[in-house]
Amino acid sequence: MDLDSWFGYTTKKTVFIRDKWLGFIYYSLVFCVVMYIFGVAILAHNEQFLLTAVSGIPRIRVTHPTKGLCDVNHPECKSNYRSLTELSYCNEYTGKYPEKRQGPCKFKDATSIMPDGDVDNKIFIPTAVEIVTERQSCKPGPENGYSCENEYEEIPGTGCLNGRSNCQTRGGLKDQFYFVADSRNFHVQFTSSYEQGEVHGTSLDHPAYYEVCPTRVNKSKGVRAWNDRLHHSEDSEESCGPDEVKRVKLPCELGVACADSRDFDLMRDSGVKKKFDEVVQVPGGPSSRKKTAQFLDRSLGHLSPSSPDIHHQSETASHHPSMYNPDSQQQWSSAYGDVFTLSRLMELAGADLDKSFNMENWTTRESGTVLEVSAVYSNLHAWISSFGYKDVNYYYRVKELPLPYVSRKHLAEVQPPDFPETRRYEIQHGTMIWFRVVGEFGNFKTTYLLIYLVTAFALIGAASAATDFIAIYIHKRKNNYFNLKYQISGDFSEKWQCPKCSYWNSPLHSKCEQYAMWEDSEGTARCGEHRPT
Ligand SMILES: [Zn+2]
Repeated sequence: MDLDSWFGYTTKKTVFIRDKWLGFIYYSLVFCVVMYIFGVAILAHNEQFLLTAVSGIPRIRVTHPTKGLCDVNHPECKSNYRSLTELSYCNEYTGKYPEKRQGPCKFKDATSIMPDGDVDNKIFIPTAVEIVTERQSCKPGPENGYSCENEYEEIPGTGCLNGRSNCQTRGGLKDQFYFVADSRNFHVQFTSSYEQGEVHGTSLDHPAYYEVCPTRVNKSKGVRAWNDRLHHSEDSEESCGPDEVKRVKLPCELGVACADSRDFDLMRDSGVKKKFDEVVQVPGGPSSRKKTAQFLDRSLGHLSPSSPDIHHQSETASHHPSMYNPDSQQQWSSAYGDVFTLSRLMELAGADLDKSFNMENWTTRESGTVLEVSAVYSNLHAWISSFGYKDVNYYYRVKELPLPYVSRKHLAEVQPPDFPETRRYEIQHGTMIWFRVVGEFGNFKTTYLLIYLVTAFALIGAASAATDFIAIYIHKRKNNYFNLKYQISGDFSEKWQCPKCSYWNSPLHSKCEQYAMWEDSEGTARCGEHRPT
């Protein structure tokens, strides 16, 4: 038995065409495929990772403005409201640019705006409050056939800002409507924890960023009618393209050591360094936000400008513009979370309390709105995640979800003496802030990588098919190349069949040319039968 013929190797025969242009076309196509698959899809877009949604607990807290950002729970902490004469929507305003709608203003602190506490991912910050007094209008009796149209009837008010609503006097009482003074400068603090698979942590472990769309911020400075606000999220006019959106780092509050992102380290991220570290233990880990002694002092209300330590710190702050400066900045990272003022959130969402209106021409301050704040988590980075760098990062995205009216209504805590003959309820309009944890973490999937490798081979096949097409149908030597590529059989209707072995022979041959299958054409015997006449 001949093993060589039983186990012989079968391979394809290919044609080599001496033509630099065809080679140039083919190799440029292959280069494009390789660049696309490995450069764009794998390294830049991290397509070999399976994205899984991040879940987490969002926590939101609101405080009124305080001096030196002190903790409101501390008895020595003083609030830092602007004077009513500086607030353009208050009657007391003395500046040059008063709002069209001005009304009485009252200061409300963090506890009085949120009597029910704030352990939730939604909070409501009232901006306008109206107290409505109602009289019991009907008691069922024989004169009305024991049926009533309404239990209570509103006592009409006077000095109303919007038709029959937002009235300053009602039922003989003054100050029945007021704006919450300086609500723009309320501090909204966001903290979140995240979890996906084995990866978990809190926002405090990472530097904070937020998304700014300059066109949207500019729009918030102009008057916006209800229809413009509705188009906000749908039409492209105000929505930002990916090139336009900027991510800005939140500055760190003075005296707080904010976490910084770790730099890419090829040896460590690819796991090479770990092998060495198993031998030599190296201490260290991700740094979290830590308060310095100076910060603790200040948050307890011990503000002494003569203290040499603080003096030194404020000098440092002037040299580093990214450090927190309470007068100019509207957002910062503190030791407990990331803080934005309400007006900055509105601005980032393209909304404004006094310049945005609903369909009945109420200002947002009078009617209320909804802001959606998302902490968007991710762990993939272009170019370096393929080498193992998967540091978690997050940024804030603020959107307005416009609703014509956002309010809550409850019976007033102090009722008139003849209650329930007369009753009083409070209706508060304000901004609802909805805080969410969103985003996706990438986990390496071999299947996804294989799909891209298979795609690469398929595209290289397409490149050679395209080059073949050019070579045999377009090129000026296409005839030669065609003949090199294809071996064409003779016309079988013109051939004669050998009567002995039934092989079909060309009319040019007078003897049968058949030889056995799987044999060398030169070294083997032919059938040799003569062509029948
Ligand atoms: Zn024959």
